[in-house]
Amino acid sequence: MRFCSLGSGSSGNSFVVQNEITTLLVDCGFGLNETVTRLSRYGVSPDKINAILLTHEHEDHIKGAFSFSNKYKVPIYLSYGTFKMCKKRINDNYDINFNIIESTQSFMINDIEVTPIPVPHDAREPFQFMFKSNLKSIAIITDLGFITNHIIKTIKEIKALVIEFNHDKTMLVDSDYPQSLKNRVAGLYGHLDNMESIKLLKSINYEGINWIAAAHLSEKNNDDTLVRRLISEATLKDSESIKVIDQMNGIDWLSV
Ligand SMILES: [Zn+2]
Ligand SMILES: [Zn+2]
Repeated sequence: MRFCSLGSGSSGNSFVVQNEITTLLVDCGFGLNETVTRLSRYGVSPDKINAILLTHEHEDHIKGAFSFSNKYKVPIYLSYGTFKMCKKRINDNYDINFNIIESTQSFMINDIEVTPIPVPHDAREPFQFMFKSNLKSIAIITDLGFITNHIIKTIKEIKALVIEFNHDKTMLVDSDYPQSLKNRVAGLYGHLDNMESIKLLKSINYEGINWIAAAHLSEKNNDDTLVRRLISEATLKDSESIKVIDQMNGIDWLSV
């Protein structure tokens, strides 16, 4: 199994999880053409994608999802809450195969096992996901306000982890964001700050992880170098095992 990202941050998120048989797109937060262009950087043809999984209804995760699904006839997997929230922005002429998934139910897409992980975030029914194939496992966890015991339990022995490092608390407080936005981002249904993400790393078996990729960094209120340093200090991993996903350039294939 392997992983790449088309980009991650508040302007758009999209990830690819792939093995020899199956290619999954996790979120589609770039427009249709942009998604196709970005996929081509990693040699992924749109008609090779077997399914799109949506984590929640925020624009930076769904922007191109429905037009992509309609054009390339790719089924979409999402929670009922996400489906309800997206419904009004789906073009009536689209012909899309929606699959409603439940928080307590792992399921298979071809030969990849997908486990939804409910997260606290200001969306109707947000899930993040863990993927397993041939004893390999990867979890993608972004867009959450705090860490739950359920998350820790589920990803305790994960082998590759994509984890939100949204903001540095002080940078957010000192930023020119309006107070309401600061409260939203820092709130229990907002985004993880760097120290919370570190706390999550320390709560799981990080010694067994092959690599950690930081995602959904705030362009204004965070810093790559700081995030790398924090992960390195907390886990003692070498720099090869610590990645930061870029908003513009995403990240190239990483083997899981
Ligand atoms: Zn987001
Ligand atoms: Zn969100």
